[in-house]
Formats: sequence, C-alpha cells, structure tokens
Amino acid sequence: MFVRSCSLSSWSAAGGAAAAARASANAPPLPSSPALPPSKPGPRSMASTSAGAGAGRVRVAVVGDVHNDWNLDEDTKALHVLQPDLVLFTGDYGNENVQLVKSISDLQFPKAAILGNHDCWRTHQFSEKKVDRVQLQLESLGEQHVGYNCLDFPTIKLSVVGGRPFSCGGDRLFRPKLLSKRYGVDNMAGSARKIYDAASGAPEEHSVILLAHNGPTGLGSRMADICGRDWVAGGGDHGDPDLEQAISDLQRQTGVSIPLVVFGHMHKSLAYGGGLRKMIAFGANKTIYLNGAIVPRMKHAAAISTRERDGLQGLGSMAPTSRAFTIIDLFDGAVEKISEVWVLVSGVGSELEEETVLYRRPREHM
Ligand SMILES: [Zn+2]
Repeated sequence: MFVRSCSLSSWSAAGGAAAAARASANAPPLPSSPALPPSKPGPRSMASTSAGAGAGRVRVAVVGDVHNDWNLDEDTKALHVLQPDLVLFTGDYGNENVQLVKSISDLQFPKAAILGNHDCWRTHQFSEKKVDRVQLQLESLGEQHVGYNCLDFPTIKLSVVGGRPFSCGGDRLFRPKLLSKRYGVDNMAGSARKIYDAASGAPEEHSVILLAHNGPTGLGSRMADICGRDWVAGGGDHGDPDLEQAISDLQRQTGVSIPLVVFGHMHKSLAYGGGLRKMIAFGANKTIYLNGAIVPRMKHAAAISTRERDGLQGLGSMAPTSRAFTIIDLFDGAVEKISEVWVLVSGVGSELEEETVLYRRPREHM
C-alpha cells in the first residue's frame, strides 16, 4: 500500500520551530500572579510546571472554537505568557471569516489548524468559476491546515494529523460535495481510511496528536458527555464515526502512539442552561480525548478602577480582556497534565488569571 509521507512544518524546515522550541526550553517559569485568585483546584500553579524546562518536555496550547473571538495582538501576548511549543486550532473561526483565518495564519508560533462546519457556512460545493471563501481560508493556512494530512514537528517529536474537515458531528458527512471534490472522500469508510493513511505517514519516533473539528463516537451518549447531544432530550452520541474507526484501526494495526486527540464543536456550556460538558475522556491505549471548545473564549475583564482606566487610556491601549486556552504538558510523548486557563491581557501586561486542572498523570510507583 502506498502511504504518503508527512509534510514537514515550514517552521521546522526554516529553523523557526527549532528556535521557538529552544527559546521555550530556556525560558524561565511562567510568572505567578499572587494578587489574583488562586488556581483551582490543583495545589501547583502553571508557574511551577512550565513546559520546556528540559529534554522531552513539550507544551501544547489549544485554541478552541474561535467564533470570531480572536485578536492577533492580544492572543500573541497571552501565548507569550503560556509559552507553548505548538498551538492547535479546532476550527469554527467565524462564518467563513477569511480575514480572521488570515490573521491566525500570521501567528508567529508553530501551529496546526482544521476548518469546522462554520468555516463553510455558505459554500456547499466547489466552484469552477470563482475562488470561494473555503478556498481562501485553505490557502491562508497552507500546510498548517492538517485536514486528512500529517504535519511533522521534528524538534518536539510530534506529528499532528487532521481528521475530516467541516465536520458537524453525527453519522452523516457534512458538505459532501466539498469533501468529494477537494479530498475524494464520498463516505465515512473512505474518510476513516484517509485519516488512517495520513497518520501512518508519521515518523516512527514521533507521537501523533489527532486534531479534528469534532470528536469521535464511542465516548458516551449522555448530554454532558464529551461529544453528547445537548439539544435534544435524552442526548445521544454526536461523535464522528470515521474518526473512531481510524483511531481503532491505527491502534490495532500500527504501532502509532496517539497520546492525545483534540477537537471542539461541542461547546462546554450545554444548551438551555444545562450545565457544563465533560471536556476530557480516557480511551484505550492511554489515549486522552480533549474537547477545547470553551465558547465564548474571550471575556471583557471585570470592572477596573477609574485610575486604572485613565492609565490604560494614557497608554492608548484597549480594554482588558481574558482569553481562554487549554494547555497540555507532555513529557517524552505522554500527557502529564491538562489545564483550562484564562489569561488576562491589558495594556499594562499579560498574566495568568485562572487555571483549572482537568488531568494530572498519576505518579508511578518507584
Ligand atoms: Zn462546529
């Protein structure tokens, strides 16, 4: 069988990722923020667990479904606080918001992204006559759009493999004409095969992170489950069956290590005020499933004093905002810790505002 090899991230090829990874490796721990509320619930703060502190440590930042809440300047400042080696975007940037996707492509961090169902909100099929907005978004992202593809980051020994672009969840393909024309995919089995083939091309010594817009089936069917339907009574599993198939085939038939599957689409806040979704699940072969869709991912910061506001105006800065990310710390290819964080960005600086630990790897007995 012919298996394509992965693309090499141009960051790596140009030395960018290497430089970024090295810069991160030598960076001091994250600054703590004693004036702010303590992190919850873990006893350690982000400050004491900064990634990049030694060989094998890698930090990944997930930007969940954006839905227009993106500002290159402010998000760059927030990411400088978090110091990731790699940034992953789960899609739904806007409703075919080409400018915003272009702005994400300008982010100066190693990164990978996938388009979601909102990114082909109006475009149903490929047009021979004019360049459509799906095409423009794909062109902006270039190799960094990993849908049905594999992007290698050799300096951190990771490959990111994309699932099916434009997914809307459930057992039917969304935008079948686009998928057929652009990717030659006509059914779920063909889609699973494409994901499988892309992951099979990852270098042997790399761990694979799967990045999809929506998660796989098989992770529960209650409304609050990680891919559970929250808009109908009784819930249901709204995962992607092709993604579950691809993961299961990869785990049975290859030696590919998949420590992490990252996705969005199913928002953390459940419909009709139904509470909060479970954002993490555990599968076979030590694979962790992570939903990064904290929506909205931007909040205007709490009221500030008149004096502070005057000071900010003096600096010509924007009103302070808090911006959400999910942070994964890996060590030698295994997930050590996962946290949801909010970073406060204002004209006078940026700092970690809140951290909620979702997972911490149990210590192994010596
Ligand atoms: Zn979506």
